[in-house]
Amino acid sequence: SGKAAGKHRVAVYDERSDEARHDRARLADELRAGLARGEVTVAWQPRVRLADGRVMAVEALARWRHPERGTVSPGVFIPVAEESGVIHPLGQAVLRQACRQGQRWAAAGTPVTVAVNVSAMELAREHFLQDVQDALRAEGLAPDLLEIEVTESAAMRDVRANAERLRALRDLGVSVAIDDFGTGYSSLSYLRQLPASVVKVDQSFVRDLTEDLTATEASIVRAVVTLAHGVGMRVVAEGVETETQRRALIALGCQEAQGYLFARPQDAASVGDLLQ
Ligand code: C2E
Ligand code: MG
Ligand code: MG
Ligand code: MG
Repeated sequence: SGKAAGKHRVAVYDERSDEARHDRARLADELRAGLARGEVTVAWQPRVRLADGRVMAVEALARWRHPERGTVSPGVFIPVAEESGVIHPLGQAVLRQACRQGQRWAAAGTPVTVAVNVSAMELAREHFLQDVQDALRAEGLAPDLLEIEVTESAAMRDVRANAERLRALRDLGVSVAIDDFGTGYSSLSYLRQLPASVVKVDQSFVRDLTEDLTATEASIVRAVVTLAHGVGMRVVAEGVETETQRRALIALGCQEAQGYLFARPQDAASVGDLLQ
């Protein structure tokens, strides 16, 4: 009966993976429908200059308010969107909302760069550049007020092709940030090949910063800062939650940061108040 139990386990396992696949397919259908119903909105998180707290940019973070499931996190629905192709209409919707909001802040006399996260799949799409141009034009946003964030691992997957795509964006006047830097296991020297103006140091390195600036985490941040500055890029620390981290980052030469210590992702009106 050990065999029977083994069989049973296998059967259960198969059922569960089928079920998981089915669940994800259903979630993708719901996401597609929810997107059309306007359930996907944007939360805005300011990025500040460490020296004086000035808001340097605002990142658009997708939020899905599902009628029954409540707020679904992007950590859940972005992979589902990528796997199902819903990422394309979703990315378009976020890009449009970001351009529209950026235009509103500019028109209110408080121009600020809006940063939009883009998946590797979106960047690789033939129409991507045209979509960005269309969004800028339709919403009346100046290209230099838009920044596109691409993760290090996405950018490095095909560094030549992506460098070219990012260069085309830059030629439009749009700036580029490399997101989650340090998690992609690529050599620091690859950074040089990307036409980015900003490097965002991943939260995992920021989280463990202490007063000890000789610790490994501090060395990693210092190395990124040195290299990035050497190639003319700015460095943004992600996920800054404590005063200790803030002080360490300043000591390590990092100039900008994002994190709960400064501001949580919030609605556009609250960011508007901050900008005033
Ligand atoms: P990301 O682009 O690296 O964004 C930073 C994440 O860290 C956000 O999570 C933000 O809410 C969170 N965060 C900010 N400050 C702190 C802090 O001090 N402590 C902690 N613990 N977390 C902090 P969120 O909004 O859940 O987004 C997760 C990821 O989902 C994003 O990481 C991004 O990769 C992806 N994402 C979000 N919106 C979009 C989108 O419109 N398109 C695409 N392709 N991806 C998106
Ligand atoms: Mg980002
Ligand atoms: Mg990040
Ligand atoms: Mg991330």
